Amino acid sequence: MTETQTQSLSQPFMDLAEKYGAHNYHPLPLVISSAKGVWVKDPEGKRYMDMLSSYSALNQGHRHPAIIKALFDQARKVTLTSRAFHTEQIGPFLKEVCELSGFDMALAMNSGAEAVETAIKMARKWGCMKKGLPQEKAEIIACTNNFHGRTVTIVSFSSDEQYRRDFGPYTPGFKLIGFGDAEALKAAITPNTVAFLVEPIQCEAGILIPPQGYFRQVRDICAKAGILLILDEIQTGLGRTGRMFAFEHEGIRPDALILGKALGGGVMPISVTLASSEVLGVFKPGDHGSTFGANPLACAVARASMKVLRDEGLDERARKLGDAFLARLRTIKSPHVKEYRGRGLIIGIELHPSAGGARRFCERLMQLGMLCKETHEHVIRLAPPLVITEKELDWAFKRVKKVLEKTA
Ligand SMILES: *Cc1c(COP(=O)(O)O)cnc(C)c1O
Repeated sequence: MTETQTQSLSQPFMDLAEKYGAHNYHPLPLVISSAKGVWVKDPEGKRYMDMLSSYSALNQGHRHPAIIKALFDQARKVTLTSRAFHTEQIGPFLKEVCELSGFDMALAMNSGAEAVETAIKMARKWGCMKKGLPQEKAEIIACTNNFHGRTVTIVSFSSDEQYRRDFGPYTPGFKLIGFGDAEALKAAITPNTVAFLVEPIQCEAGILIPPQGYFRQVRDICAKAGILLILDEIQTGLGRTGRMFAFEHEGIRPDALILGKALGGGVMPISVTLASSEVLGVFKPGDHGSTFGANPLACAVARASMKVLRDEGLDERARKLGDAFLARLRTIKSPHVKEYRGRGLIIGIELHPSAGGARRFCERLMQLGMLCKETHEHVIRLAPPLVITEKELDWAFKRVKKVLEKTA
């Protein structure tokens, strides 16, 4: 039986991680040893379709040839200089990410959480310098059920008990309101408010999509109050929702935008905070930085990653394929399903609490060769690489249908 072979080849790797690694994750029992496009393989050679895409960090698919080429070309030249010097990659990268998003300026870091921290520091300093707020008074409004990362400051305004508990004391200066509630935003603004930080779709909270028109109202409220609208598009940005940026769905523009994940094409960590020169211009030398931030290897990879998104029209592809896939999912009649929802190729299947949690459905799908991950206990998240083909989505559909219909 292949089961025992699986034990013999993969098991030692899992045992080592379990023994020597902190248990801050609970991975599915699978070792991925190679990957290409939407497919990954375990050490035994079994193939799986990746319908998680590393939480949307793999929009361009695993090891896209153009991105891997950029990685190798740059690796042969220079990989790290620190920001003490210029490189041939930083300037062109910043220009290209600004042009893609329509902002004046960008500040590059590595992880998404660092870019969120950058945006928080930017908004607070902007409040002091441009609005004349006294020191340590700035307030930022965020939403319940948000996910913006894992630093102490960021978990300080999480509403998820597990993200916060035991990690205090917390950073003050944040206020939480309900997601999708424009009136609550209006009511929460005080003379000390500097920004509203929000995700266009709350992906980690279970793919929660706000009511139509919410962001137009939010845009208007922030403008009237003279506060910054900061969108965290680390997961929704770069084509995932069927537009290059999710804010385009409501035809608005935020004052600042945070990108990460797919910016590095699934190859290098790189993130940015983008804004107008008036806002991001508040940073002076020494105010903020990172040794590896905007390193030439990551910049070269990010330039190739953005080029792939544009050249292959992956935003348009996500819209077309995602709409069709969601419509097809809705034809599945399963007693377990409460709702199918999504935008582009970020899709959530919310199960009834009686279904016993989404994880066991994800485990079944894995046995059928399809990888996905539950989010918020009762939601199955489907987020394939945007390079996925119709045929591959059809393959996935059959497995999802089978598991939803046949699981007791
Ligand atoms: C993943 C994610 C982050 C954090 O990014 P890291 O690179 O894991 O630090 C922040 N915000 C959103 C919306 C995310 O999806």
